[in-house]
Amino acid sequence: MTDSLLTPAAGPASGMSAKPTTAFEFPLQDSSGEVCLRQAWASLPEPIGADEKESLLHDIRRLLRERNAVLVAHYYVDGVIQDLATETGGLVADSLEMARFGHDHTAQTLVVAGVRFMGETAKILSPEKTVLMPDLQANCSLDLGCPADAFSQFCDAHPDRTVVVYANTSAAVKARADWMVTSSCAVSIVRHLHAQGEKILFAPDRHLGRYVAEQTGADMLLWEGHCIVHDEFKAVELASLKARHPESIVLVHPEAPASVIALADRVGSTTAMINAVVENDAKSFIVATDQGILHRMRQLAPEKTLIEAPTAGTSATCKSCAHCPWMAMNGLKALRNALANSGAPHEINVPAETAEKAVNCIHRMLAFTALESGGALTNASAAGLIPHIGAA
Ligand code: SF4
Repeated sequence: MTDSLLTPAAGPASGMSAKPTTAFEFPLQDSSGEVCLRQAWASLPEPIGADEKESLLHDIRRLLRERNAVLVAHYYVDGVIQDLATETGGLVADSLEMARFGHDHTAQTLVVAGVRFMGETAKILSPEKTVLMPDLQANCSLDLGCPADAFSQFCDAHPDRTVVVYANTSAAVKARADWMVTSSCAVSIVRHLHAQGEKILFAPDRHLGRYVAEQTGADMLLWEGHCIVHDEFKAVELASLKARHPESIVLVHPEAPASVIALADRVGSTTAMINAVVENDAKSFIVATDQGILHRMRQLAPEKTLIEAPTAGTSATCKSCAHCPWMAMNGLKALRNALANSGAPHEINVPAETAEKAVNCIHRMLAFTALESGGALTNASAAGLIPHIGAA
């Protein structure tokens, strides 16, 4: 592949809705390790008025009841949808908790407000349930940048390495992996594997991979993907902001570049960042992750000052623009349509053969984190899936 080659990836199919779309570049690696730039797109929900919003909220509440459905939302989606999830007995959480909650809940239908890999994970863990998403085109640059065929060939070329993949991957990539991790458990799982003498192949987030390697000392071969949101945080600008607010605690998500992580007082998952704001005595925090998380932070710690970390230089028109375009695709209209119509435009399906393979790496992670937190294993078969767990 040629460096800096910019070629269009799959865009909106002709005849699809004419909603406003924005294009983004993301890194795409091939099986040999070469990287080029590709283009992806996201279509933003059209603005709605107050009356229409109330009408949609009313419909969604009713449909959730009628369909025995539960809404599971990520911290990065719009605050209105986060509140709706909480109010209707669902959950707002990170991807690990979303997966756990959807699996354990008695509802027959899971509505996942997030991005596609989250819906796939829910379906893999709960194949008997119907999993709906507001927009199946809501993707992730990490997922897009790690195609299953190229990844599988890359793994074949390094058979001596244990394959660890981030949650932000397709079901087909998970089917090729030994372990799945999220940002909340990546360090502890890789530390465990390193203690067993295992060498790691990690995909797809190079920044998270580098951070985990530094924390654990593990030998890690990294896939060269990145999150288009977190990759934008700027260390020089953050240092300047920090100098102007020396009393602030700097919270950074490990998907950010190493130069930004180097300025952090705390590095952690979305849940860890929220807990830090709630539990730390400090009054002010600089937050380097998707701005959608501020909604939950403000609810839980309304007395704290929250400052968005900069994603651009002084001449930019938008100084702190960290918001995932695909998370933004989760609008109220799309959510209502998912519940009202379900079927192909909104329902997540994973081929049975892929799901049967992919579930193993997810079960290993869930079993490991359950043991680590002192909880009992709820899935007995998962216990046998953790190699050397007694030494963890
Ligand atoms: S914020 Fe980044 S990692 Fe999360 S879904 Fe969007 S592109 Fe993917």
